[in-house]
Amino acid sequence: MMKVRNFLFIVLSMLSGLACASATLVSTAIVSDTVAMTKASDKMVMTAPQWCKRLVVRLPSVSQQMCERSALTATGAYSQRGFPLLARHIPAALPTLVSSGSAATKHVVGPKPLRVLLMGGIHGDELTSASIVFRWMDMMPSAASSQFEWRVIPVVNPDGLLAKKAQRVNANGVDLNRNFPTPGWQQDAPRYWAKRTRNDPRRYPGAAPLSEPESRLVYDEMTHFHPDVIISVHAPYGVLDFDGPDDPPHRFGRLRLNQVGVYPGSLGNYSGVHRNVPVITIELPNAQKMPSQKEMQRIWRDMLRWIDDNVEPHQDGAIRSVSAAPVPNR
Ligand SMILES: [Zn+2]
Repeated sequence: MMKVRNFLFIVLSMLSGLACASATLVSTAIVSDTVAMTKASDKMVMTAPQWCKRLVVRLPSVSQQMCERSALTATGAYSQRGFPLLARHIPAALPTLVSSGSAATKHVVGPKPLRVLLMGGIHGDELTSASIVFRWMDMMPSAASSQFEWRVIPVVNPDGLLAKKAQRVNANGVDLNRNFPTPGWQQDAPRYWAKRTRNDPRRYPGAAPLSEPESRLVYDEMTHFHPDVIISVHAPYGVLDFDGPDDPPHRFGRLRLNQVGVYPGSLGNYSGVHRNVPVITIELPNAQKMPSQKEMQRIWRDMLRWIDDNVEPHQDGAIRSVSAAPVPNR
């Protein structure tokens, strides 16, 4: 069914360019078929331009045209409210040459490109964290970025972004960045929430790890795409954070390293500590106001250079079982 939805999204995206009556009729028929087949009337069917139109009104410095240029496609996943969660896959410019085939045909020519998973908008009220991902996508592919293979999800939490007043949590009131399955989550996450955050509704970890469709999408991307490094953009602390086995970056643009530690259910804890896949958390200095064009470029350039110099291809199966101790909340 997931494939059917992907296909329908693409068909609808193509039809959206045709302003004739027959196209409208066809797409209407497809929409009602979709509902009948999936019994998922709560899942919204929309074209990419329609998707952009809903979101860009909330996103500083992202135009409708820029959003459409980002060429996002369906992931098959939907937010809690049924809003499509879109992503873009960007292969590396260099051919992926790996060892394969029988001895007679085998030829090992070069390494696989590093895989980078880039995400924004996990917290719906951090508007710039989604916008900057669109802006960076608009700079791709550059020579520096095209050496990597990318998966990009600019808006992980559209329900939070589109809420009457933009909100950190998703439509279920869950902080997605506390909903990842870190070891001991069942004990640690609720206890941490009650004691350290005093039941702060903005930091509710959910009833169970991966209880939310948005965090499940991120988890699925990690499982299927196998990123070598994850970049997660937030705001407004104006720092860099890092979780992972490597030496951390010290400075991207004006952002300097300030490792605040880990907490139960966070992406940095789950991926960087438990799965051994480094997570760079970029905390932009303002949740509503974008950095200057120059600063956006500097962060991007410094980040690409750091990845190139420091990230190693991830070894699957190298999962460390570490139960990280909670540290003070920020
Ligand atoms: Zn955040």
